[in-house]
Amino acid sequence: MEKVILIRYGEIFLKGRNRSYFEKVLLNNCRKALREIPDVNIIRAQGRFFAENYTDEDAVIDALTRVFGLVSISPALKIDGDFEEIAAVSKQMMGEYLDEQAKEQMTFKVESRRADKRFPMDSMTIRRELGARLLKAFPQLKVDVHNPDVVFNVEVREHTYLYYKMIPCAGGMPVGSNGKAALLLSGGIDSPVAGWMIAKRGVALTAVHFHSFPYTSDRSKEKVIELARILTRYTGSIRLHVVPFTKIQQELYERCPDEELTILMRRYMMKIAERIAVKEGAAALVTGESIGQVASQTIESLAVTNDAVDMPVFRPLIGFDKIDIMETAEAIGTYETSILPYEDCCTVFTPRHPVTRPKLERILRSEKLIDGETLIQEALDNVEVITL
Ligand code: ATP
Ligand code: MG
Repeated sequence: MEKVILIRYGEIFLKGRNRSYFEKVLLNNCRKALREIPDVNIIRAQGRFFAENYTDEDAVIDALTRVFGLVSISPALKIDGDFEEIAAVSKQMMGEYLDEQAKEQMTFKVESRRADKRFPMDSMTIRRELGARLLKAFPQLKVDVHNPDVVFNVEVREHTYLYYKMIPCAGGMPVGSNGKAALLLSGGIDSPVAGWMIAKRGVALTAVHFHSFPYTSDRSKEKVIELARILTRYTGSIRLHVVPFTKIQQELYERCPDEELTILMRRYMMKIAERIAVKEGAAALVTGESIGQVASQTIESLAVTNDAVDMPVFRPLIGFDKIDIMETAEAIGTYETSILPYEDCCTVFTPRHPVTRPKLERILRSEKLIDGETLIQEALDNVEVITL
């Protein structure tokens, strides 16, 4: 008898000829997610994965629930043997479960599947016989086939697996199965959530952060590193590019109309991020913008920002209310870090009355008041890359 974790993944993306490719990427991502857990083994069998040979079950479960492409997992007991053995172990498991729940009455049903036809009982018989044994053993149990408190599962394959817990996972698609994008990662609440959403669709991330030392402190940089690190729990390794942005901001501040500073800054951020994306093999940019949230996020501003680059810009939060974004941030574990009070670069050079309806021609004219190409090149030459 051995403890294992049965791992289920989505059927939808597995249709068609990409199946083995997706399975390979997903298997690899599971292995990466469990890299720090000693000795654990992941094997692939009949449209499932199994995690085996671990001691810290909670750690394995915790890591797997964050792997995109997994649908659910079940801690199970793997046994070999006849029906009597199945019944004995099932009783033991059910007994422990009922003790844990400590309720006077509970409803259940047995589900069974027989993939190994050499097993002498068919699944209907297993279901019926095991149900009867459990009923007899535990007077507090009643059968309810429609809406039971607990479903006890028996899967007869090469081995037999018994389980009654079904833990939902993150869903989505395996990271890396749908290319790569560059995430503009600030220290705020929104951009980590935006990155998480795109990664959930199977897109690997590289991250770009604009740092305005000494106007922004080392602590604000540490905060962004920490946010990227939290994201890697879902995405696997991320290369974080920290771009020195102060000089561009100072030049804009000195030479350009005050009310246009934000939009000009955003255009330069996009241009630099696009160059980094190309170098990193990323085919799109990702931001945490949503319509109307701040002055730089009016439709007109977003359009002028878009115009700065040729790459598609993905804004997965575009139609989200702040409150919904905050909820997701909490659920994925970035919120607590995002709300740490260290200023991000935008607050230092924020104009008092930013334009909310910028005109592209005017912005293009202002943009040329600084030596953009030289400044961009200088910033790119001084990028610090942190691999997380
Ligand atoms: P966030 O909470 O993600 O910071 P926000 O609501 O504060 O977003 P802005 O500060 O206008 O809005 O930023 C909009 C988007 O621009 C961010 O979501 C992020 O993708 C990008 N961005 C802003 N500042 C930076 C920065 N210093 N480095 C990298 N990207 C940034
Ligand atoms: Mg911000």
